[in-house]
Amino acid sequence: MTNCDTANDGFHDECGVFGVLDHPEASNLTYLGLYAQQHRGQESAGIVSYDGDQFINRRGMGMVADIFQKKDIKRLSGRLAIGHVRYSTSGESGLRNCQPFSYEYAHGGIAMCHNGNIVNARVLRRELEENGSIFQSTSDTEVLIHLVAKSSSDTTEGRLKEAVSRLEGGFSFLVLTEDKLIGLRDRNGIRPLVLGQLDGVWVLASETCAFDLIGANYVRDVEPGEMVVIRKTGLESHKLLDNPSLRFCVFEYVYFSRPDSTLEGVNVYQARYGIGEQLADESPIDADMVIPVPDSGVPPAMGFAARSGIPLQMGLIRNHYVGRTFIEPRQSIRNFGVKLKLNANAAMIRGKRVILVDDSIVRGTTSRKIVEMVRAAGASEIHLRISSPPTRHSCFYGIDTPSDNELIANRMTQDEMCSAIGADSLAFVSRDGLYRAIKRPCSVHCDACFSGEYPVPIEGLERKNPPSLLRFNSKKR
Ligand code: SF4
Repeated sequence: MTNCDTANDGFHDECGVFGVLDHPEASNLTYLGLYAQQHRGQESAGIVSYDGDQFINRRGMGMVADIFQKKDIKRLSGRLAIGHVRYSTSGESGLRNCQPFSYEYAHGGIAMCHNGNIVNARVLRRELEENGSIFQSTSDTEVLIHLVAKSSSDTTEGRLKEAVSRLEGGFSFLVLTEDKLIGLRDRNGIRPLVLGQLDGVWVLASETCAFDLIGANYVRDVEPGEMVVIRKTGLESHKLLDNPSLRFCVFEYVYFSRPDSTLEGVNVYQARYGIGEQLADESPIDADMVIPVPDSGVPPAMGFAARSGIPLQMGLIRNHYVGRTFIEPRQSIRNFGVKLKLNANAAMIRGKRVILVDDSIVRGTTSRKIVEMVRAAGASEIHLRISSPPTRHSCFYGIDTPSDNELIANRMTQDEMCSAIGADSLAFVSRDGLYRAIKRPCSVHCDACFSGEYPVPIEGLERKNPPSLLRFNSKKR
């Protein structure tokens, strides 16, 4: 999604993780692994290493390249490290919620970070607090650490198994102890976690694009409900949770993951390109050009153009160098927020019938502004094609989404949406078409934001306030 307007309209990436054990350049590799996964979270980042004596921690707000200087990586010495990039989905944005967290407890040191959402975190936290636990953050990640510390099991693996069995939701965790790197995934494998090898040592990441940057080989995805325990001596696989059943987030293919990543055996670029071809088959229209809404609209637009025979043109140009800006024009410029990131190339568009291809429509405000901008650039017709089915429901598994009633597809028919957005026609890829394009059955995916079929029960959660938007704020309890 082009998260580019001031109304904050869109799905937001969640988090990314990276870990390595027994490599002389552990923190350097972790830095690069996070750098490659920056798209998964730009609010904060952190690395924890273990130097044989102590855990060393560096966390900060902002982008990976801004937080870590050469001297920080040098200070993060040792052969074991984990790292995290964050977009806050639970707990407010702030230094105290930056991950990884590291603690000393009765069994030594431990560090942890995660991607996803624990849907019963509030209930567990309340129970832990009533039994004396004191939290240092408002992140749901910390709940697991407290559950681990309270376990009576003799081993880290046993403590994790006992603690994770109490969690519900979609999550992938990395855990670092003094001699182990552990990766684990929820029983539905909703969020990604992949395993690779570099120079004979194991590495873990959210996406394979992290392996490509450091020259590691992708080995496999961590299985749903699996815990991999990596020591100097090798890797062990443990069954962590009963009744595992893959329900991988289908939106990772549509928008969240980098196109050069391969997850659950499917290359993201190929999936997006195939969805574009499917859209052209399902909703053809006569036009002069196909224009992608960059960046995630590019592969489906290429697929649409190839299948329809209508030429692809870069009629929308994205400014990739946008940071936060505090300077706004005195007199309001129409669609200023969108224009900071995207500009319509009027010389290409003027007088033309265009097909705009985007990945999703959330509130509809960004789509309306883009359509207005393309119209103002002189397009004679604008046909909007969307490479996902209509988004009608909130995500409870780690993606920051608006509440159901803010989602335009939940409030309007397709014709009403088309008219509210100002397009001449609007079409979404069908749910069946989506799965045909990625060549996977819908039974192995979560697509609850389209279908409302949540793989992990959400009963008792307030639909208007999914945990991704809740804060552990005592005033709100
Ligand atoms: S609800 Fe949507 S965004 Fe959330 S995990 Fe399921 S498919 Fe992904």
